Amino acid sequence: MTDDDSCITGKRGKYFGICTSYHHSKGCNCPKCPSYPEKGKFMFCSKGAYPGVEKKGCLCQECIIHNKFDLEGEYFCLE
Ligand code: SF4
Repeated sequence: MTDDDSCITGKRGKYFGICTSYHHSKGCNCPKCPSYPEKGKFMFCSKGAYPGVEKKGCLCQECIIHNKFDLEGEYFCLE
């Protein structure tokens, strides 16, 4: 299992945590976000913060993953 294909149990999200599978990553808003830090990175709600991200707006609360896993908060790339 690679870092990009892991299920983080008990970290955030409902029931089983957030799975960063290809299926879920397709719904991730990160690449469309004005704060997006680096091409090829995504699903910070599951993987954790990315160093040096600047706050320029956040699309997490409009994201299908946010809704699907009952997440709370925003700017997962920062926190
Ligand atoms: S909630 Fe935010 S960090 Fe998580 S997949 Fe959606 S846009 Fe990415």
